[in-house]
Amino acid sequence: MVYINDNFNKLAESYLFAEIADKRTQYQKAHPQAKLISLGIGDVTQPLCPAVVQAMQQAVQEMGAAETFRGYGPYEGYDFLINAILQNDYAPRGVQLNASEIFVSDGSKSDSGNIGDIFSAANVVAVSDPVYPVYIDTNIMAGRQVRTLPCTETTGFCPEPPDWHADLICLCSPNNPTGAVFSKEQLTAWVNYAREHQAIILYDAAYKAFITDPSLPQSIYEIPGAQECAIEFCSFSKTAGFTGTRCAWTVVPQALRGQNPDGTAAETSLNALWFRRQSTKFNGVPYIVQRGAAAIYTPEGQAQVKQVINHYLQNAKIIRDTLLGLGFSCTGGENSPYIWLKTPAGQTSWQFFDLLLNELNIIGTPGSGFGQQGEGYFRLTAFGSLQDTQEAAERLKRYFQK
Ligand SMILES: *Cc1c(COP(=O)(O)O)cnc(C)c1O
Repeated sequence: MVYINDNFNKLAESYLFAEIADKRTQYQKAHPQAKLISLGIGDVTQPLCPAVVQAMQQAVQEMGAAETFRGYGPYEGYDFLINAILQNDYAPRGVQLNASEIFVSDGSKSDSGNIGDIFSAANVVAVSDPVYPVYIDTNIMAGRQVRTLPCTETTGFCPEPPDWHADLICLCSPNNPTGAVFSKEQLTAWVNYAREHQAIILYDAAYKAFITDPSLPQSIYEIPGAQECAIEFCSFSKTAGFTGTRCAWTVVPQALRGQNPDGTAAETSLNALWFRRQSTKFNGVPYIVQRGAAAIYTPEGQAQVKQVINHYLQNAKIIRDTLLGLGFSCTGGENSPYIWLKTPAGQTSWQFFDLLLNELNIIGTPGSGFGQQGEGYFRLTAFGSLQDTQEAAERLKRYFQK
């Protein structure tokens, strides 16, 4: 018999979403009349915008005609999309990158897991607690040691550089699940730490389109020195409703270098390693999808995408304002689709889940499902409809207003 990758035996079982679905089904069975509202949705709900649909339809036509048909595309993505990313996502924010540093892919989830292929299993990885579980599990699968950075009320639910050494650091801003967003000062502290420790930051900016405060960084490369210590993951999933369409990109600056096992400087850049990895294991994103993604950068596309983001931000504000008005302590809900609230005195995350389900018919996500530090917290999301969000806000007010 073959030997399995024994690291899989070290993964913690995740019951979170199965348990939520289970409780929901049971409640609905016992109360068929109850109108349950989910404020736990971690996926977009608004459709692709018309500019994207039109561009994709046109691309389908091209694929169906001999003169414009395309087979395998470039591993790293088509120039038209890479250039649109450089000109719209980076140049206006003063970030100078070149085309060879952008790698278009089918998702930030896959990239943030796959990036581990270019790093040794001997590296120590730092992840925040609470956390997006992908960062932990992909590193456990690879056999790396994972250490946690507590994100508490005192740190504004953002992780701070530790007093121990990490080689790889997973950061996410705006954060899933806490909704916290790094300020330039906080992110500068991380860039300084990474440069001091010769570490690499793996920066997940999947929710950057939700940032409306101009003082907050949307890219880690807005911080001086970050091109010498950070890889950035971005996605069209939350920006433009591509969760089911699949398109993302990863930035691997040419300046990034690692070392050989004997401590000498590696001759090959991390950029070259990632290109080698992608060209070996990946054959690119469909032309049709890349045309759709590029359409968000047209003037119509920009306006349409912004309208959808504003819709979610409006929901976020309704939830946040309602909770604050009721005396809850919460973070997020501004510059982010997630609201992270502290459960009322003494309640565990799951007790609060049961209360919301049974008394208000609202479904959210227990914070304890995202890590130890999540106990006593609860995540609500802005991805529902405006009507559902308003109705949920009314229910919260009726129940909690003293
Ligand atoms: C949704 C999400 C992503 C996006 O992943 P894709 O694979 O691009 O859809 C990345 N990181 C976090 C934390 C997310 O919540």
